[in-house]
Amino acid sequence: MSKVYRLMEDIRNDVEEQIERNGYVAMQKKYNFVQHLANGYWSDNKLCLNCANRKKSNNHAIPRFMLNAISIKGMVSNSNALIDAHFIKKENGLAEAGAFSLLCNKCDQRLFKAYENPNNYEDEPNLVMLAQISLKNYLKRISIRRKSLPLIAAMAYQQLDLEYGDFRNAPRHIIDYRVSKITAINRCETLYTEYSFAKLREHMMTNTLQKPYLFYHCKVDYVTPIAFQSQVRLFYDFNGDIINNPSEQDNEQIEVLHICIFPLQSSTVIMMYSDLLSKKDSYAIFKASFEELDDCGKLCLINFLVFKYSDEYFIHKDFMDILSKNEELIKIAKEMDAFYPDDIINMEAHKNSFSLSGMKKIPNLLAPNNALKT
Ligand SMILES: [Zn+2]
Repeated sequence: MSKVYRLMEDIRNDVEEQIERNGYVAMQKKYNFVQHLANGYWSDNKLCLNCANRKKSNNHAIPRFMLNAISIKGMVSNSNALIDAHFIKKENGLAEAGAFSLLCNKCDQRLFKAYENPNNYEDEPNLVMLAQISLKNYLKRISIRRKSLPLIAAMAYQQLDLEYGDFRNAPRHIIDYRVSKITAINRCETLYTEYSFAKLREHMMTNTLQKPYLFYHCKVDYVTPIAFQSQVRLFYDFNGDIINNPSEQDNEQIEVLHICIFPLQSSTVIMMYSDLLSKKDSYAIFKASFEELDDCGKLCLINFLVFKYSDEYFIHKDFMDILSKNEELIKIAKEMDAFYPDDIINMEAHKNSFSLSGMKKIPNLLAPNNALKT
């Protein structure tokens, strides 16, 4: 379990106690205030990340027509229906699901044009589409790092609460010092991802893209109840040997995989591929074991990686009603690791938790028996 997640759990435990004492509305007000303060630390980033235009618009992690395929009355369930954290919605409208704001409208329409066109999925996606998906994943990562800032800042405020009764009683310079210290690491990670975004964009503009290794591509003739687009950083292969060291902090050493589950009108495109900026081949042994799995096994593994390594999935609401009663899935969703875990004390427990053998314990939403009825 990552440090951020553990701290989040601490906050949750404390929050439950505080809600009982102060009431839900009072606590929500306080958290909104903390979020408002923490957001202020990014106030220098109001420009479009691609062209520096002042007018940023709403960008979406997963194209709307894909979410639409798994929606009911314009709504989809998000991972919080399993994780159950306070003050976070469990379902979203299509306009707000996976929404972030880093690009202006013009760049948003231009940069992802090929992959956001439903007519481009007849064949295997081309290199440009894979690059556009990766570029979006980097953007989403930047947005997540920025959004996790309030949570990280909240840890500092919580500590001040303990020392001063209420953080608002603390001197302003103490608040500033504590919050800037704890947010400095977050800023480094964000800046590195911004650098990766710029580098990939440059390769796209200069036609110097290298074809990634496509672990899996399949267009199945049914609609899965789940939509997903993100990158995961695998820790261990099938033998339990390290792919990416969980305590590695150096962003340059981390190698990710991109996973896509794209529900279309009557089919679904499922893909997993290596990162376009990868310099190493950390996945070589994993690659060989993966190739040995049959199609069913490959889908089962991809399904597991999504729930184990990410919380960025969206699920059909009727399915979520069933899934939210599945204890094993809830456990795995809650243990989901943040992208940069640190402070891992017990490597053996971590390895057990991330063992790929866990893939058979949870429902496989990519299997034909779980398809949506169209
Ligand atoms: Zn722009």
